Amino acid sequence: DFSTKYFTMNEEQAIEYAKEKLGYFKQDAELTCKEIGDGNLNYVFHLVDQKNGDSIILKQAGPIARISDEFKLSPDRNRIESDILKIQYDFVPAHTPKTYQYDPIMNCFAMEDLSDYEIMRAALIKHEIFPEFADHITTFMAKTLLLTSDIVMNHKEKKELVKSFINPELCEISEDLVYTEPFYDCERNEVFPATRPFVEKEIWADDTLRLETAKLKFEFLTNAQSLIHGDLHTGSVFIKQGETKVIDPEFAFYGPAGYDIGNIVANLIFAFANGQATMTDESKRNEFTSYILTTIEDVIDLFKQKFGKLWQEADKELVATYDGFYDYYLNSILKDTAAVAGLELSRRIIGLAKVADITSIEDEKARQQAEENCLTIAKQFIINRDQYLNGADFVNQVKKVF
Ligand code: ADP
Ligand code: MG
Ligand code: MG
Ligand code: MG
Repeated sequence: DFSTKYFTMNEEQAIEYAKEKLGYFKQDAELTCKEIGDGNLNYVFHLVDQKNGDSIILKQAGPIARISDEFKLSPDRNRIESDILKIQYDFVPAHTPKTYQYDPIMNCFAMEDLSDYEIMRAALIKHEIFPEFADHITTFMAKTLLLTSDIVMNHKEKKELVKSFINPELCEISEDLVYTEPFYDCERNEVFPATRPFVEKEIWADDTLRLETAKLKFEFLTNAQSLIHGDLHTGSVFIKQGETKVIDPEFAFYGPAGYDIGNIVANLIFAFANGQATMTDESKRNEFTSYILTTIEDVIDLFKQKFGKLWQEADKELVATYDGFYDYYLNSILKDTAAVAGLELSRRIIGLAKVADITSIEDEKARQQAEENCLTIAKQFIINRDQYLNGADFVNQVKKVF
């Protein structure tokens, strides 16, 4: 019985659920189901009608799950994810999966099957190149970040959205894992032993750096600027040649716009570090690493371009029209972008949630070098965050260190 009490489904129950509740498949459907989730919080069911060829994805939030002793997660995150996917779909249908029904009892929703796409992090670790990614992700970010802000929205309607996307438990994960734990010798950190002396000296003993991370955490806690994705790393991007879809926005809330852009930049730098450390064929390595640098540059410059164009189209009653306000606003987003890129670079290396781009580097010395390079860039991004005003500034920082 799916109508009274929440329980986590197995594959057979997901088939029953689809038949009883979804109304998506044809009457004579012959359904098969496979759970394909790769995290430990949510269940992702791939349902296929073997007779007619239709398919759908059902994502169910796990029960008040724990990723670590102190993190409890309400299944309400499934409502947040399903709601924000609808908003994102309205703004950028080309880069958002279509969603179907949301079920507040079973804490699940159905969405478009994207099985013909690949998770971008996995593709980048194979050193695949996607020339259109920067164009796609900047369309996604410029629209979702500007069109949900007070620059464009009626301020009262925006406040209603802020309320509906209060996401205290998932925000707390980011507050702890991104902003706090990486910057002291926290038990839960998982530092690669060879890198540990560098972390002790360059991060944990740097009080100037630590003060800046406290300021940034306060900004994350209080700046309800835009409805952000909140977990926009390359593991939340589904990609194939010519197509990009952004998935998994369960961390969404009203936060600093630069948070999403900074996450994209940092995760591209991890891909760069992987290519640099593991590709033995010099011409292939150069091709891949240049592609990553071009993409970083384009992510910033195309974002600025698209953001500026959308700003121009906005209702001038709402936007401050004083000279200099646009530059002030955009520059504050770029400053947050650099800072968050620095935080993400730090927390994936020092903290408990790792990225495969780095952990898959088998040679110990090469991994240590990659990690130290990422942390060196991270410090610059955080401390000098007001000095990265265009794509070339970000790229030059990467080139200077690697
Ligand atoms: P989690 O919140 O647990 O990280 P994700 O939304 O990232 O869940 O999904 C986990 C995995 O399930 C993805 O990496 C992908 O392999 C698969 N998946 C998720 N959504 C879809 C989809 N719409 N189509 C096909 N596969 C999907
Ligand atoms: Mg997969
Ligand atoms: Mg998730
Ligand atoms: Mg995910």
